Amino acid sequence: MKPFDYTRADSVSAASKAARDGATVIAGGTNLLDLMKLEVMAPDSVIDINRLDLDEISRTDDGGLRIGALVTNSDLAANEIVRREYEVLSRALLAGASGQLRNKATTGGNLCQRTRCYYFYDTDMPCNKRDPGSGCHAREGFNRIHAILGTSDACIATHPSDMAVAMRALGAKVHIEGPEETQRTIALEDFYRLPGDRPQDDNTLEPGEVITAVILPAPQKDARHIYRKVRDRASYAFALVSVAAVARMEDGKIADISLAFGGLAHMPWRDGAVENLLKGQAPSDILFTEAAEVLLKDAKTFGSNDFKIPLTRRTLKAVLREVCSTGETT
Ligand code: SF4
Repeated sequence: MKPFDYTRADSVSAASKAARDGATVIAGGTNLLDLMKLEVMAPDSVIDINRLDLDEISRTDDGGLRIGALVTNSDLAANEIVRREYEVLSRALLAGASGQLRNKATTGGNLCQRTRCYYFYDTDMPCNKRDPGSGCHAREGFNRIHAILGTSDACIATHPSDMAVAMRALGAKVHIEGPEETQRTIALEDFYRLPGDRPQDDNTLEPGEVITAVILPAPQKDARHIYRKVRDRASYAFALVSVAAVARMEDGKIADISLAFGGLAHMPWRDGAVENLLKGQAPSDILFTEAAEVLLKDAKTFGSNDFKIPLTRRTLKAVLREVCSTGETT
């Protein structure tokens, strides 16, 4: 590991100013420290935000939830309101990493964790995300865990978070503070970005901006929540495909539904056309097959990840049968 300066921030604005001047923000460090040991990331300085007052979970005025950026994944998963009203989020968190990692990993850090593309971590290999312009070995190489939606010629990496997939289904927003005490709140889909020709940028944070909270809207009453994660091992593995579903049934029809997908793209994926197709319809296997076809109509595979198309189709249909309670087995 290369030597670096370490500073502890005593305010968000101090953290933000340090970040603007080139420091890398560290909280739980569960991803960053690995990246630094491997010299995939080699910051000259890190700014530690662990002592900032950002570890509260509180109700918002409109009945939603404000989650401080330093709330750990364990505390968030175990929170009584989250377990009762945002069950999909609790389930997604518990599907991720291990108990030890969840005790350290934070809400803000989880959103900012970097891809687990093998070539990104191997500094002997070309990788446009790690070393812009060097190429992408994954396209022609081993790409079992890679994206099938929203890819570009420059990068086919996936985002590894489970938590963010559930948050996308729940319509989360990200609160960000910057230098000179600027603040903005943006939808999670506007926080993330597709790789395009700048895969080195995972998200839309500007220099010096720090995530301070995630805000969930008021929960939907009487909605059913499912998080299904398909992976190579039963635990401690990233999603090949995951689906977060929140649905409300009325008179035997799908009154409302939101679906987000992990393991398929550079960001948690959500497709309004799929949800619109399902809303107002009586659940049926024919409908679910149509929904999968709409989701995958622009999917592109790269060899080792060809299996993700049938796997996604099957996983989505299984989740829809369960969340829409047709009673059919999967
Ligand atoms: Fe790098 Fe992206 Fe290609 Fe992986 S998929 S090697 S992260 S450019």
